[in-house]
Amino acid sequence: MSEAIRVHDVAAADWRDWGWQMRHRIRTAADLRAFLEPTPDEVAAIEALATRFRFVITPYYASLMDPADPDCPIRRQVVPRLAELGDPAGLADPLDEVAHSPVKNVIRVYRDRIAFCVNNECALYCRYCLRKRMVGDEDWTMQKRELETALDWIARTPEIRDVLLTGGDPLVYSDAKLEWLLGRLRAIPHVELIRLGTRLPVTLPFRVTKALCAMLERFHPIWVNTHFNHPRELTEEAAEACDRLLRAGIPVGNQSVLLRGINDSLPVMQALCEGLVRMRVRPYYVYQAQLLEGTAHFRVPIEAGQAIFRAMRGRTSGFAIPQYVLDTPHGKVPLELPFVKGREGDDYVVEAWDGAIWREPNPR
Ligand SMILES: *Cc1c(COP(=O)(O)O)cnc(C)c1O
Ligand code: SF4
Repeated sequence: MSEAIRVHDVAAADWRDWGWQMRHRIRTAADLRAFLEPTPDEVAAIEALATRFRFVITPYYASLMDPADPDCPIRRQVVPRLAELGDPAGLADPLDEVAHSPVKNVIRVYRDRIAFCVNNECALYCRYCLRKRMVGDEDWTMQKRELETALDWIARTPEIRDVLLTGGDPLVYSDAKLEWLLGRLRAIPHVELIRLGTRLPVTLPFRVTKALCAMLERFHPIWVNTHFNHPRELTEEAAEACDRLLRAGIPVGNQSVLLRGINDSLPVMQALCEGLVRMRVRPYYVYQAQLLEGTAHFRVPIEAGQAIFRAMRGRTSGFAIPQYVLDTPHGKVPLELPFVKGREGDDYVVEAWDGAIWREPNPR
């Protein structure tokens, strides 16, 4: 049994130490009992899925779970259920990322930008993770030599102006290893933009230390996209982590996944997005959940997503409205319903947020 069992006795300084959090992560049903009593389904799923997709949760994130509610939106993101075993339509690699990999760990769908999977580890594992096939897999080691090979490929490919570091989670790296990687990327003249895709502001906000931000600041322009899915994740600790990034001059955006029973309603999505902008985090994308193995119970019909984002238009700040997108092997495709209804002669006919129809002469 881990020390997480005695969570109420943990010293505040330990709790806020990201190394302590990483060392005391929950990995078994017994560990989970420090926070809640798992249902028989959850206990069986933890056992049955042990070799398929790792069960790991940080104590911080576990402390956000509602012990009285098996449908708690935090709990459902990270505690397995037997439903994961029943998804005949699900695929291991729905975006065909393996075929879009010019060199190991690089996914290239666009001419000018890449996703560079620098790590296969995360602080915790989300049950709907798109990179299930590689994250948390202990055999999928990320050797420095492999990173060097990918860096050489980027250096030899002058079209690449935007590098998105992802994984896994690049912020699971030590400051020193990340600094080494950023230094190598910055030495490539055509790499204009470096982005970090990280869920740690949500799942382990204490990782975002002042020292990390001071280091990142030296490699500008750096952009961060994080991954909040539910308003309950918008804690004081998470807000402080985002604030530290923002004060280092790093624009912070958010990418969510539309998840059944978690954020697939207008009130929840609007509260999430309005909470994000109060933290000065810009909602960027909300992804349609992919046809990914073990995730049928999370998928939402596209019409339901379209209705949510349609309804937000006109009801909240424009910059609180993310783009609802489907990721495909050809890149991201917006799924929003069109506001342009058609043309009448030279005029454009558009529908406003409130349903009013407007006819606009088209300048020639
Ligand atoms: C999402 C993604 C990007 C970045 O796309 P933006 O629309 O520019 O945010 C780049 N490469 C891959 C493979 C991606 O999946
Ligand atoms: S943090 Fe991201 S990469 Fe890691 S398990 Fe969750 S969704 Fe997957």
